[in-house]
Amino acid sequence: MDHFPVFMAVAGRRIVLSGGGDAALAKLRLILKTTAKVTVFAPQAAPELHAWAAAGRLTLVLRVMAAGDAQDAVLFYAANEDDAEDARVAALAHADGAKVNIVDNLGDSEFITPAIVDRDPVVVAIGTEGAAPVLARKIKADLEAQLPASLGLLARVGKTFRHAVNVLPMGVKRRDFWSAFYFREGPKAVSKGQDQIVPTLESLLDDHIMGQTKAGHVDLVGAGPGDPDLLTLKARKALDKADVVIHDRLVTGDILELARREAIIIDAGKEGFGKSMKQEDIDALIVDHARGGAHVVRLKAGDPTVFGRLDEEIDALVAADIPYTIVPGITAASAAVAGISQSLTKRGRNSAIRFITGHDTKGYADHDWKVLGQPGQVAAIYMGKRAARFIQGRLLMHGADPATPVTIIENVSRTNQRIIATTLAELEPTMSNANLTGPAITFYGLAPRDALAIDLQEQEAI
Ligand code: SAH
Repeated sequence: MDHFPVFMAVAGRRIVLSGGGDAALAKLRLILKTTAKVTVFAPQAAPELHAWAAAGRLTLVLRVMAAGDAQDAVLFYAANEDDAEDARVAALAHADGAKVNIVDNLGDSEFITPAIVDRDPVVVAIGTEGAAPVLARKIKADLEAQLPASLGLLARVGKTFRHAVNVLPMGVKRRDFWSAFYFREGPKAVSKGQDQIVPTLESLLDDHIMGQTKAGHVDLVGAGPGDPDLLTLKARKALDKADVVIHDRLVTGDILELARREAIIIDAGKEGFGKSMKQEDIDALIVDHARGGAHVVRLKAGDPTVFGRLDEEIDALVAADIPYTIVPGITAASAAVAGISQSLTKRGRNSAIRFITGHDTKGYADHDWKVLGQPGQVAAIYMGKRAARFIQGRLLMHGADPATPVTIIENVSRTNQRIIATTLAELEPTMSNANLTGPAITFYGLAPRDALAIDLQEQEAI
């Protein structure tokens, strides 16, 4: 960001502009929205300028600008549409201590004016640092369509009502009240007449005070491995209704996008080995929001019942007497095996599959290595990146065949999914050399179908 957006206090302060043509008019249409004292220097001025001067909206001085004319001005615009004259007046204004903008000359300007969506006191400024005016216009048009024209009026009336809303507890309850006012009841009231706004606020507040005793609810939802198309319909419906979404680190932005627009999104990410939010704190967060009456969606990667510490959260909800629902999701193993065109189980190959974890809260997790080391075993290893050497060592020690196929699948179901086929003997260093940055699942005893096909072709060729 080469330009930092700020909102400058201009009430009663001077803004000076040099120029009397189209460029000057375009800038003045924006500047005149403010409560600044505006002075324009122009030897010749367009009729609009004369009209604005006559209406007392600005001071028009019908001559070229001279030294000292921009004294005490906070902002200065050079809008003469003449490079030499603009450079001259910019230097004068600069000497007077004003911040200078030269219209259509980004390089020599000390500030730029954004595109503005005006719902005073709500003002949205859009800047593209001069790179894409088309984009700014499009965003402006979208926002104009999205923000009710009455928003400014509602905000002004709403401001006088703030103290009354203090009877609602801070947080979700108050935010719910205001979002119902700004986006639902308020615009309806305006369409019936401005005098309807205050009565609407009053009855809406009554409703919200009554509704305070509403019990919260928690949906413990599986978000799947990352592709939004792998969400269940039930998960989508839960996201549509959510007041609060508390999600894991592995839940992707694409999925969070689907949450209700007014929902509060909280990242309760736990890094594998790094800094993390403690499980007790997450439990408390879920309970607190639900107690406040919110519909909480606890969004977990994959399926919440697989290595998801779900039971601790359920225990906390039961202890707090909060109702909950579990919404299953597609676990990483299911999506990963689809990615290598295999089945989790296959008649004649493996009649069982184990979901094992590489590490648990105490460190590397121990398993029945002796059984796993026997031929025909298949395991989906979650959280197995760092434990790869440990697992490899244990399995080989217990007699597993070093040639057993192993497949590592990173970023399952996402656009950057990566499949690495190897063998138990090569699991390390393959894992380390792969420099994985995303989540990865390891299949022990399964090779990608394609790799098998290639092997067969090679065998046939020999
Ligand atoms: N509940 C989740 C698992 C949570 S444990 C589920 O059912 O999938 C976290 C581990 O899941 C990660 O270390 C990784 O092994 C695996 N995992 C989750 N999402 C993944 C993805 N998109 N790609 C690969 N592995 C994933």
